[in-house]
Amino acid sequence: MVIELQNVALTYQSPNGEVEALKEISFDMEEGEFVSIVGPSGCGKSTLLSLIAGLEQPSGGTVLVDGEAVSGPSQKIGFMPQRDQLFEWRSIWGNVTLGLEIRHQNTPERQAHVRELLNRYGLAGFADKSPAQLSGGMRQRCALIRTLATDPHILLLDEPFSALDYQTRLSVSADISQIIRQEHKTALLVTHDISEAISMSDRIVVLSGRPAVVKAVHDMGHLRPLTPMQRRNAPDFRTYFNLIWEELDVNG
Ligand code: ADP
Ligand code: MG
Repeated sequence: MVIELQNVALTYQSPNGEVEALKEISFDMEEGEFVSIVGPSGCGKSTLLSLIAGLEQPSGGTVLVDGEAVSGPSQKIGFMPQRDQLFEWRSIWGNVTLGLEIRHQNTPERQAHVRELLNRYGLAGFADKSPAQLSGGMRQRCALIRTLATDPHILLLDEPFSALDYQTRLSVSADISQIIRQEHKTALLVTHDISEAISMSDRIVVLSGRPAVVKAVHDMGHLRPLTPMQRRNAPDFRTYFNLIWEELDVNG
């Protein structure tokens, strides 16, 4: 297993008292799997990603990555945040190699890898441009390539498309999920968009309201051969949508 969560709990200590965010979360992820987490706002989804990324320590249970207890941030994990966070004063090249610079890994081999990613995903001609000259979709690709530059084998995505309008979201989510599969990464996506989760994932974990527990797990492995767009038109789509909608609604 690439990721194993066993009875994970996290209670934040804040000046106003304790906030119980997660309670007894257990699930596993296999190599190359794409799992989505959906749950009501404030239920602890970002907290869950912070635990896997080693930015928080659980107050109960264990978090294992590649069979080892997580004790801090690791090179194995790449994080794609809510907004693309590209720096306007840096070129596209400067942006996609930023992670390498910060980690003092801006070597010719790594740079060649980044150049290859830009080529493969149609951004080679934009290396010298500034982020403002790119469409929303291309900016997201850049953000993903910047994350891939340090060669993590696990990707954590925290509502990465929420700043995009609906139409852009549809094509960008399809695009990004195709790249993630092509690069054979294990991916964990947090989203509040049920359709997005169904269109992108092999499995969906539904969390309850805070403190979060796993309310349901849906295996969508049989949809794997379909593209995100094809999934949206598949007969199963509405069935899953309605099911998850109800699961999210009951406990708020
Ligand atoms: P989600 O991503 O599902 O919207 P979060 O994981 O961000 O939820 O937060 C879960 C709960 O924990 C929320 O009630 C939030 O206010 C609280 N929380 C998050 N981070 C902290 C923190 N550092 N200190 C105290 N409470 C926090
Ligand atoms: Mg969040």
